[in-house]
Amino acid sequence: MEILTKQPSTKGPAEMFTGDVWFDVIAKGEEPSRMRVNMVRFAPGARTAWHCHAVGQTLHVTEGIGLVQSRSGEVVVMRPGDTVYTPPGEWHWHGAAPDHFMCHLAMWEGPGEGQGPESEWGDLVTDDQYNAR
Ligand code: MN
Repeated sequence: MEILTKQPSTKGPAEMFTGDVWFDVIAKGEEPSRMRVNMVRFAPGARTAWHCHAVGQTLHVTEGIGLVQSRSGEVVVMRPGDTVYTPPGEWHWHGAAPDHFMCHLAMWEGPGEGQGPESEWGDLVTDDQYNAR
C-alpha cells in the first residue's frame, strides 16, 4: 500500500489556461498503467485553452457551475454530478461559468508506447468564444 500525502497545488500555466486555475495530481499511474487523474479548480471565468486528448478524457464535476464546448458544438453548462466525455482527438475547452467557481476531476490516459503526446494544446479561448452562450 502506498499513501500519498497532500502535495502543494500547481497553478495552471498561462499558455494553457485563462484566469486562475489550480490543479492537484490525484493519480499518475506507472507503466503499464497510463491512468491520469487530476482535481482541477477554476475561478469564475477561468478556462482551459482549446485542446484535445489522444485517448479521450472524462470530466466529472464535483462543485460549482462549469462550461464545456467542443469545436463544432455549442457551449454547454455542467453541474455537480455531471460527467462529460470527450472522444479521442476532439478539440474542446472546459472551465468555470462567469460568476461561479467550478471543480472537476479530469481523467485521461498518458501516452502509449511509440505514440504521440497525450494531449495537444492550441489557442486560448477568446472572450467572444467564452461568452457565445
Ligand atoms: Mn480536456
